[in-house]
Amino acid sequence: MNDCIFCKIVAGEFGTALVAESEHAIAFKDISPRKPVHILVVPREHHRDVAELSKMNPGALADLVALGCRVADELSTGSFRLTFNTGEEAGQTVFHAHGHITSTTPKAASAS
Ligand code: AMP
Ligand code: ZN
Repeated sequence: MNDCIFCKIVAGEFGTALVAESEHAIAFKDISPRKPVHILVVPREHHRDVAELSKMNPGALADLVALGCRVADELSTGSFRLTFNTGEEAGQTVFHAHGHITSTTPKAASAS
């Protein structure tokens, strides 16, 4: 767990800029975005994947989903995906639970 990159980001060790945060979760830009909007929502508490998070701390998962929806509402037109890769064969590479908020329709920048 000490080597967990997302635990280090939660602890502020890398000075990662947060897009938003809540009691139980933080949101920041994916380092290698695959869609025009690509944000990660990460629980402050370490759990290996969303399945473990849902069992061990369902309240934190609900809070994480609400944070993701708030970020999606701020950054996209409202059409977005919230995905949790769970397990190596499903493409999970960081084993600290996280959701990907992705959207192909970013909110247009304000004219003012
Ligand atoms: P997954 O493949 O679902 O485990 O997603 C892990 C995601 O974390 C990938 O999309 C990576 O690009 C992203 N990632 C890895 N390291 C960092 C980092 N230091 N800051 C932001 N995103 C990261
Ligand atoms: Zn962790």
